[in-house]
Amino acid sequence: MREFTIPYAGIAMLHPIPQDPLPRTDRLPDPYRAEPAVLAERRSALDGALDWPAVRASAEPWVCAVRENPPPFWAMERLLTEYPISSHEGLALMRLAEALLRVPDTETAIALTADQLGRADFEGASDAVIARLSSAAIALSKRWLPAEGSAPGLVARLGARSVVAATLRAVQLLGRQFVLGEDIEDALRRAEAGRRAHPTLRHSFDMLGEGARTEADAAHYLQSYRQALEAIARHADPMRHPSLNDGLSIKLSALHPRYEPAQHERVMRELVPRVWALCERAAQASLNLTIDAEEVERLELSLDVFEALAARVAREYPLWEGLGLALQAYQTRAVELIDEVAAIGRRHGVRLMCRLVKGAYWDSEIKRAQELGLPGYPVFTRKHRTDVSYLACARALLDADDVVFAQFATHNAGTIAAVLQMARQRGSTRFELQRLHGMGEGVYREVLRDVDVGCRVYAPVGAHRDLLAYLVRRLLENGANSSFVHQLADESVGMEALLESPMERCASEDGKPAFALPARLYGAQRPNSEGLDPAVAEHRERLFAAWRQVAVPRVPEASAGEASAAARRAAEAFDAWNHRPVAERAAVLRRAADAMQAQLPPLCALLVAEARKTWPDAIAEVREAIDFLRYYATEAERLLAPVELPGPTGERNTLRLHGRGAWVCISPWNFPLAIFTGQVAAALVTGNTVLAKPAEQTPAIAREAVRLLHAAGVPAEVLQLLHGPGETVGAALVAEPAVAGVVFTGSTPVAKAIQRALAAKDGPIVPLIAETGGVNAMLVDSSALPEQVADAVVQSAFRSAGQRCSALRLLCVHESIADGVIEMVRGAAQALVVGDPADLATDVGPLIDAEAFDGVARHLARLRTTARALLPEGEDAATHTVAPQLFEIRHVAEASQEIFGPVLQVLRWRGDPKDVIAQVNALGYGLTLGLQTRIDSRAQALAAQARAGNVYVNRNTIGAVVGVQPFGGEGLSGTGPKAGGPHYLPRFCAEQTLTINTTAAGGNVALFSA
Ligand SMILES: Cc1cc2nc3c(=O)[nH]c(=O)nc-3n(C[C@H](O)[C@H](O)[C@H](O)COP(=O)(O)OP(=O)(O)OC[C@H]3O[C@@H](n4cnc5c(N)ncnc54)[C@H](O)[C@@H]3O)c2cc1C
Repeated sequence: MREFTIPYAGIAMLHPIPQDPLPRTDRLPDPYRAEPAVLAERRSALDGALDWPAVRASAEPWVCAVRENPPPFWAMERLLTEYPISSHEGLALMRLAEALLRVPDTETAIALTADQLGRADFEGASDAVIARLSSAAIALSKRWLPAEGSAPGLVARLGARSVVAATLRAVQLLGRQFVLGEDIEDALRRAEAGRRAHPTLRHSFDMLGEGARTEADAAHYLQSYRQALEAIARHADPMRHPSLNDGLSIKLSALHPRYEPAQHERVMRELVPRVWALCERAAQASLNLTIDAEEVERLELSLDVFEALAARVAREYPLWEGLGLALQAYQTRAVELIDEVAAIGRRHGVRLMCRLVKGAYWDSEIKRAQELGLPGYPVFTRKHRTDVSYLACARALLDADDVVFAQFATHNAGTIAAVLQMARQRGSTRFELQRLHGMGEGVYREVLRDVDVGCRVYAPVGAHRDLLAYLVRRLLENGANSSFVHQLADESVGMEALLESPMERCASEDGKPAFALPARLYGAQRPNSEGLDPAVAEHRERLFAAWRQVAVPRVPEASAGEASAAARRAAEAFDAWNHRPVAERAAVLRRAADAMQAQLPPLCALLVAEARKTWPDAIAEVREAIDFLRYYATEAERLLAPVELPGPTGERNTLRLHGRGAWVCISPWNFPLAIFTGQVAAALVTGNTVLAKPAEQTPAIAREAVRLLHAAGVPAEVLQLLHGPGETVGAALVAEPAVAGVVFTGSTPVAKAIQRALAAKDGPIVPLIAETGGVNAMLVDSSALPEQVADAVVQSAFRSAGQRCSALRLLCVHESIADGVIEMVRGAAQALVVGDPADLATDVGPLIDAEAFDGVARHLARLRTTARALLPEGEDAATHTVAPQLFEIRHVAEASQEIFGPVLQVLRWRGDPKDVIAQVNALGYGLTLGLQTRIDSRAQALAAQARAGNVYVNRNTIGAVVGVQPFGGEGLSGTGPKAGGPHYLPRFCAEQTLTINTTAAGGNVALFSA
């Protein structure tokens, strides 16, 4: 556990400045530069570099030959042409391929197959091997597979088993296309056999498996890479250049459970020696060892690792030229990356290898940018732009051939022909071509017949279970309409389209992003809040600059008497504010949102200092507050506009909503800006005045929000901040006769106390909106992917130190996969960093105060006697930190209390998942529920059965986004309506129907003139 020493004794103090563990500047330019500008640079780098008609003339015969004489595996490509991933059938195939092989129990395998095949129609599939098998499986399924939930009879069960067996076989065949061998010896044998036909063929073996979640995973993958290197070395000639020997591709994410930019220091300390051990063996045997390219976020980190290795190669194996890095042309920084790799080689005097690919994670890069509200996309948004970038990169690589041996990895005949043309023009010979095993075989058969150039096959090795993530990427690639291999197999795509010049396509368009930037995600409705990317040095610097300035001011407490006076002022101010046009109030909110956006770094710093948030949590929270302001502004304009109602002629009926009076808004410390702002904004924009009582622990951030709202135009008497204890100030406000409504987020007992206090008052019945806690569960069935489960669980249970009402408290795993999943969660939890929230590397910060710490400690003491502890103790009373804790329990009912800390309870279930949901429902809470299953109909059925306000399928259960996942629960979890949803504002309103008899003054004119 990391130690930290920030003395959080009082709130009026300056915090020490943490060390930024990451490099102060990035090696590469901003990944979010505007796409048109980057594209223009790439195009100009290619000016006059290519004779495209000649490129086409080279590639056309290859295409014709492949279409006339398809290679043996063509069946799969055809299959995916018939059933692209955009169709039900293609999607079913992909989903079965992803999940079916790992399901250990027959019941679930049957349910999964029925679920996916039930919606697909493979009738009349082409008659090639895989297609035939799939068709057979599907045809059988029509007769035998039960619908989800129905109990199949004996014959049907036998039938279902055969269908599943047939489908399994089809999926296995699909997978086998992409794997060279089950183990390295097997793969080496096959590689040798392949070389009999093509003596110059080389391989880069890829030991399947990626994304270690635990240290044990990382150790396992390291061992598997070591064994592979030993085996490859035995077959290699150490006197030959690495380009002439087989080699190995590795993924850094497989070698460290926290291969993330925020863990820079630890990665450099722990990961580099692991990779170095592999480098040494590769160097001794003169092999090519290539580091695969993964997510953009990890690029800078991979460069730092790469340079550390290159420097050591220069010292210890100066003659070895086999260290390599894969580069993705879809990245907007790809050309600069090549310059940087060349610079690394020159700086250290080592020759390197570079594999140029287009990139395999395109969809997830787009999603990440949208989710984090980043300034742009780090990848090109149209396929032909990536093609142009690839060619610009190829040129840069060929230019750097004094220090870089280029490896062009593509299956696209046009791209290959263009690269070969450029290489010929320059007289370059220091390069090779690469393809994936099971892909592009036809094209390469033709290319290699024409030209004498080295070719290397990227050859995955491993058991089926480890193939799944890789297989999905391949199916996506083969099944995507835009991909070359897909179009090649589709004879309806003519030569013109297949070999169109990407430069020409770019010339005919403006280069703008193909879809809205993250800031415009919600179109005309409202701007999306903008975030920062802590992986980018310049963004981090903005946060740290704010941190250097941050001070947490002392906020004076109000007395009960001041609370009463404030309530009277609020009541008096109501009429004027309520009569302001809604558009004006909405404009005020929007101005406040813009001000918050401009102040994002200082607000984050204040959240870290006062509420002990980690930086990613702080950024997310400020964004949520901004979203609340803009969403409620837009919603108010929609909902408060008068609605004309139909009725008899001669009469006009109008319904309109307006404010109720003075509202008391009581918010918690765990979202001291977002929930505070959300409550206040909703009340204000609907015409109410507000008495805002923040949590005692976090008044400074609330005061800052109030300051911004006042500056945006909310009059002082319309929004008043009243800081103080709940028992005095809160209670006094609630008891005030002038109060027209209360909105509260906090614990269930306090909500009940408020409800009783309101009920005891004379006068009007006052509405209460209460959002309280939850005992949130996640149900995992045996079709779920353990890695995805572990990620979701660790984020949901331990992020924010478990201090979210949405946090996961109870994990229910199907017994058939429970051992593996629990072990992975355990290992992943242990890899988390507990400590000072101001440190970027920290995952789990402290609990909010001593009282919270004591409460959690009491629960832990109880659990240690009643349940099986699966993680070592890790409480530190001095810093109020609690390391993640995991306990195994036997019954759902044992988890009946909400523990507001990083404490997760886990149990194994068997039988019907509906029974588990029924038991969770019986706990009485109803906030969030997680479901991890690949059986879509099961997810739908369980969600319908669940008494939970927010159900999340195959993802984490936290971080609800305003207007996207309206948030709030039922039962013991709150009254509703959901915050950030369309039903929230009406609860703050009174309604009026205005009926005017239009015939009163002289008859029904409207009828006469109709
Ligand atoms: C030997 C080898 C090793 C590889 N290693 C890696 C690796 O380490 N890391 C990695 O990420 N990938 C790797 N790949 C996978 C590689 O990224 C894909 O196979 C490759 O992108 C397919 O390109 P293509 O030229 O064959 O096909 P094409 O059909 O010409 O291009 C398809 C590619 O275009 C891009 N694209 C698709 N749609 C869009 C869009 N709308 N906007 C912008 N771009 C788009 C994507 O990158 C997509 O993969 C490797 C591939 C090979 C052959």
